Amino acid sequence: MNVVVVGAGMAGTMLAIRLARRGHRVDVVERRGDPRGTNGPEAASISVGLSERGRAALRDIGLLEKALATAVPMRGRIVHHRGRVSYQPYGTDDTEVLHSVRRHDLNIALLDAAASVPRVRLWFGHRVTGLAGTEVRTPARTFSADLVVGADGAYSTVRTHLHRRVRAEFHRTYLDWGYREFTIPAVDRPEALHVWPGRRGLVVAHPNPDGSLTGTVFLPFDGDTGFSGLRDPARAGAFLAEEFGDLTDLVPDLVPQFLAHEPGSLVSVRTAPWQHDRVVLVGDAAHAVFPFYGQGMNAAFEDCAVLDACLAEHTPDDALAAFEARRRPHTDVLAELSARNFVELRDRVRSPVFLARKRIDFTLGRLVPGWRTLYAMISHSSLPYGDALARAHRQDRLLGGFVGLGGVTLLAAARRKRSGRC
Ligand SMILES: Cc1cc2nc3c(=O)[nH]c(=O)nc-3n(C[C@H](O)[C@H](O)[C@H](O)COP(=O)(O)OP(=O)(O)OC[C@H]3O[C@@H](n4cnc5c(N)ncnc54)[C@H](O)[C@@H]3O)c2cc1C
Repeated sequence: MNVVVVGAGMAGTMLAIRLARRGHRVDVVERRGDPRGTNGPEAASISVGLSERGRAALRDIGLLEKALATAVPMRGRIVHHRGRVSYQPYGTDDTEVLHSVRRHDLNIALLDAAASVPRVRLWFGHRVTGLAGTEVRTPARTFSADLVVGADGAYSTVRTHLHRRVRAEFHRTYLDWGYREFTIPAVDRPEALHVWPGRRGLVVAHPNPDGSLTGTVFLPFDGDTGFSGLRDPARAGAFLAEEFGDLTDLVPDLVPQFLAHEPGSLVSVRTAPWQHDRVVLVGDAAHAVFPFYGQGMNAAFEDCAVLDACLAEHTPDDALAAFEARRRPHTDVLAELSARNFVELRDRVRSPVFLARKRIDFTLGRLVPGWRTLYAMISHSSLPYGDALARAHRQDRLLGGFVGLGGVTLLAAARRKRSGRC
């Protein structure tokens, strides 16, 4: 087939590589210029968490090693709260890690890999403005295709055109919080995600290979202690010091960095159908989620593997419907989990009850064969999101009947007895 992929971001490049390796001819049409050879001034600062789903997709196309060469492993969260620092491991062993990667670097690696596949052509500086059947239009040229893939992100143009043809459902939700990024110079324990849960805001920071961290501050847009009320340097400085304590010691120029850019919006998109008449959506175009489970890119990569498999198993027309049927229930679950994790990161990482509950879950993960926390299933496995949630609910019911930490102690003792240890 001749395939036109709109968008050379995470999903577009990943899918182009996969489809071209199957023998399809793929034109990737991207509105931006070629980022290779630049340091991507805007993208440079953005670091994202790569989890097992994303690693599996990169492994499939032979790019994992290259992607990890500049990644930093994150073995847990370091929570900074009221001058105290606590550590919450992500998993039960060394295999259960996330990797912090610069989105720009990963995009470049994917673009290089796509450019090296003979059947892929990359068209930079071509903004798609229209779709007529499977003809993709940009101001400068028209691309004819047998299949059009909208990998053009949360504000997808392909989706807008698809919606003109079908009775589509579409829900876009903006969080009343936004985000701004900043850099934290080298810290002591870089191999973790650092979190500053404030009372009125949240800071999350991913490690970079040079030991620095890329921080993201999340705050409401409005109100005295929201982005709009913190435009004055003195006010912003006082608020950040009060809210995030040691962060202001770690980042001497926090205030100028904080005030340097407009805050970004956080958007979640749900739509159906994802496909009609040989046009299909993947990644954020189909299901943008709030970033609080660190899964948007990982899910976008996973979409590509599922769509690729469906195209290999079915005729093109059936494949698109099969892809949506197989995938959408799971990304709907991810949207829910991502919204919920915002509350967890904001409020509950410093709640003793929540932490005790986490510890029980975590201990059971170590002691009971087959017991896995929801977080581990989402981040350290490729179990479909909906299946992971269903299994977590079953475990929760068990845990509910379990008499707190006493049960864990008994279990541990029983296990030690069985293994002959004391
Ligand atoms: C603050 C923040 C933190 C995040 N952290 C994580 C994380 O830790 N882990 C994680 O997995 N995910 C994370 N994400 C989500 C992740 O960045 C996205 O889910 C991922 O980039 C989606 O990939 P995509 O290819 O679908 O879309 P995009 O990466 O947005 O790519 C879309 C591409 O389409 C192009 N395009 C758009 N319109 C047109 C057009 N009309 N014509 C041609 N080209 C067009 C764009 O220029 C872009 O290159 C985070 C997001 C945010 C905002």
